[in-house]
Amino acid sequence: MSAADLQPAHVRERFPMTLAIPAPAVATSVPASSVTPRTWSFINRRTGEPASYTCMEGCTLNHASEMGSPTFPEDVWCWFWSNPLTLPVNENGTPEEFRVLSTVIKVEPWSPKVAERIPFAVIELVDDHFIDGLDPDGLATVIRTLSDRLQQMRETHRRLVAVRAEYMGRQART
Ligand SMILES: [Zn+2]
Repeated sequence: MSAADLQPAHVRERFPMTLAIPAPAVATSVPASSVTPRTWSFINRRTGEPASYTCMEGCTLNHASEMGSPTFPEDVWCWFWSNPLTLPVNENGTPEEFRVLSTVIKVEPWSPKVAERIPFAVIELVDDHFIDGLDPDGLATVIRTLSDRLQQMRETHRRLVAVRAEYMGRQART
């Protein structure tokens, strides 16, 4: 799926790039436990009626563009943003810094998909490639899979060290 699929229409307009571009509205990230969820209001663009909403705990958006403004309810969403990690990835001959394994918690309280109305996780495996809609069991499954893969990578690292030592020692003898 594309990043655009994760973002309501108004966000796609403002931030056309990807999920992992932090909006200017992103506040300094604070541990969720120290944040009191904010309650704020917007005007339901469909009905013209005021609507009240309480953010997900730890939401790092400030919702400045929606507060008090005409907004489609399905365009209201919260997320918890953590610092991105990048690695040099070679896609077309020249390594470039790509975001890897960025994980956010998101909720879309009026989403047409009911499962998105409670908080879920989204992992950006590498730029613009996502695992979406993860409940806690789903996220745990991904973490377990990656953890197993890291174990294999450690074994490959040990093998590389040994193979190089043998190979270079052999060249030194000839
Ligand atoms: Zn929020």
